[in-house]
Amino acid sequence: MKISKKAGAIAPSLTLAITAKANAMKAKGQSIIGFGAGEPDFTTPEYICNAAKKAMDAGHTKYTPSAGLATLRGAICAKLDADNGLEYTPNQIVVSNGAKHSLYNSLYAIIDEGEEVIIPVPFWLTYPELVNMVGGVPVYVDTTEENGFKMTAAQLEAAITPKTRAIILNSPSNPCGAVYSKSELEALAKVLEDKDIYVISDEIYEKLIYSGAHHSIAACSDAMKERTIIVNGLSKSYAMTGWRMGYVAAPLAVAKAIDSVQSHMTSNISSITQYAAIAALTEESNFITKLKAIFTERRDVLVEGVNAIDGLSARVPNGAFYVFVNITEWKGKTYNGKKIESSIDICDGLLDVGIAPVPGAAFGDDDFVRFSYAISVEDIKEGLARLASYGANLV
Ligand code: PLP
Repeated sequence: MKISKKAGAIAPSLTLAITAKANAMKAKGQSIIGFGAGEPDFTTPEYICNAAKKAMDAGHTKYTPSAGLATLRGAICAKLDADNGLEYTPNQIVVSNGAKHSLYNSLYAIIDEGEEVIIPVPFWLTYPELVNMVGGVPVYVDTTEENGFKMTAAQLEAAITPKTRAIILNSPSNPCGAVYSKSELEALAKVLEDKDIYVISDEIYEKLIYSGAHHSIAACSDAMKERTIIVNGLSKSYAMTGWRMGYVAAPLAVAKAIDSVQSHMTSNISSITQYAAIAALTEESNFITKLKAIFTERRDVLVEGVNAIDGLSARVPNGAFYVFVNITEWKGKTYNGKKIESSIDICDGLLDVGIAPVPGAAFGDDDFVRFSYAISVEDIKEGLARLASYGANLV
């Protein structure tokens, strides 16, 4: 039986393929250190879980408004004001099933068939697929390691055509932990302020910045706020990946369009999750401070270890929990008689020595491999030893 052209055109996730292969090897009893994790390796803080339990006991088990409870949207507005200096009203907020869903809804609301969406490379692998799913055309802008994997204003300007309808910005970024400074965002804003182009600003790693502060491009000017759809959520900062809570803060017309789409597609997210989210956003806790301290130590162990291995190099990322390792010197060498042509070949070989990072090819840059440090320091150290043993066997 036939599969639709739309569904058939979607590339299966390369990260999930590597995870599946690693899991199959684990099931056979092999020791695999998974450097692929896209989520914090912690459970959700107790005060958040307690709020969910209370919500169930209180019978908050019914439909809510499609865009989310007014109290939750109010708490999100208070967060945007306190953290980002941005004033929104609850009717500009739509809560969805994770930031991923918010991204899809945003693109669905603003992109018509054939319109272009600029995506800096390397990118989070879901962006191009979502753009394709709504009939848009991804337009890639290559960044460089020397420039911290950040798109410059000149690059942005050069990529804009009459068909450009949006750009996707991700700061801090997955896969390389790049964080745009205020002045870098202002330079991008200058290019966009007088144009009919939206910015979808994915700020999901906002709370995981190791030095300096997070800035949202929406805060650059009123003109930018009118053009920006902020996407954020609780998955990464509160270790709530399984709860599925993301949101947009958007110009009113966009928020209304997203709400209409969502009201027919999924309606509200889980009512229980919404009560947990209210607690996460409004109750005092030092969870994020502790999380950052743990991630900082792991990041430093990983970066130092990688740079000590012949042929590899990595910059210290300033955000998220990934190190993007430059593997160009390993390309062209031979492992077990097989020539290494790509980041995928390297990741295949690394499975042999018991580690599973993600090939840069998945993120649009084949000269790198992404290592997540959402795993223990002990595992990182053992993984580095295995990485070094692979390197030692290259000829
Ligand atoms: N945006 C980026 C850059 C991500 O890395 C991820 C998850 O890996 C998401 C969005 C999706 O997060 P959520 O769990 O809220 O859907």
